[in-house]
Amino acid sequence: MSTQAFERTRLRTARELAGLSQAQLAREAGLTPAAISQFESGAARPSPDTVSTLGEVLAVPTDFLHQTMIETHEGFFRSLRRTSVIDRRRARAIAHVAHDLAVHAASTDKFHSSDVPMIPASGLDAGAAEIERTAAQVRSLWDIPSGPVSNVVGLLEAHGIAVIRLPLDSAGVDAFSLPFPDHPVVVLGTDKNDRARSRFDSAHELAHLVLHGEQIWGVKEVETQAHQFAAAFLMPADEIHDQLPTTVDWPTLFGLKRHWQVSLAALLMRARTLGRMSDSTYLTAIKTASARGWRRVEPVPLGQPEEPTKLLDYLASPESGPARDLLPSRVVKSIETASATA
Ligand SMILES: [Zn+2]
Repeated sequence: MSTQAFERTRLRTARELAGLSQAQLAREAGLTPAAISQFESGAARPSPDTVSTLGEVLAVPTDFLHQTMIETHEGFFRSLRRTSVIDRRRARAIAHVAHDLAVHAASTDKFHSSDVPMIPASGLDAGAAEIERTAAQVRSLWDIPSGPVSNVVGLLEAHGIAVIRLPLDSAGVDAFSLPFPDHPVVVLGTDKNDRARSRFDSAHELAHLVLHGEQIWGVKEVETQAHQFAAAFLMPADEIHDQLPTTVDWPTLFGLKRHWQVSLAALLMRARTLGRMSDSTYLTAIKTASARGWRRVEPVPLGQPEEPTKLLDYLASPESGPARDLLPSRVVKSIETASATA
């Protein structure tokens, strides 16, 4: 018997993990949709017996529904139209469980508190120069040596960000992040085969946490800023400017891809942004790459993507026992499986 009160936001999370609507849950638990809605809004409180029933139907420990929960906004999702609402909510609920794991891991000294700098963008129309400066500032605050970031995922974890890979049954959801103040969560997509893309995605989500935090989200300008930040963070202008070719010089671009561990597409875009390549040269390069099928699969593969390790290490340790008792085991298992290196 838990001493803590029923936490209404946990019910919503558990329901979204199961992919059920309020009406579906009501049917399976033998309740009315109005009752579920009132439990979730806080207008009514379920009896202990009802909490047990809800726990059983949703396959979560009863204690899960009693833990306090830190709320945050809906999350930085890309391509909202491509993802169904159910998939997106389910992915967000999984990120909440990842946050729970990070909190538990931190309580056993297996995880650092976040020291992600908050440097909010001045607005939706913040210029590229401002975003470049912010990216350089984060590199400097975190003492990142010049040159390529050796492991972006490892860097985020070292600064208290919980990183997981999304379980495969949520395919179709791109990378996203949730800006919890203690341990922000970055969720990487299910695409396991592209190291360059995975690094860029991680830097893009870091951008949201630094630039946008709890504030603005879900609009195109915010996504553009996150892309600008990621490019500047992974390829600092003062270091890469003179290395970038002014012509469509593939051998040089291949070498830069290997060195900076970013995609050819990102390098070409960087060459254009920094004024090394004219628009017409850039377009010629993109057309050539399309004709050769490189927009789908690029040459010069970089090997396995970076994988998160911190939460997996915690889950592999005996200290994770209490957390496992409180959290839905099916979800924890799916996080473990999805995030583990193949
Ligand atoms: Zn984004």
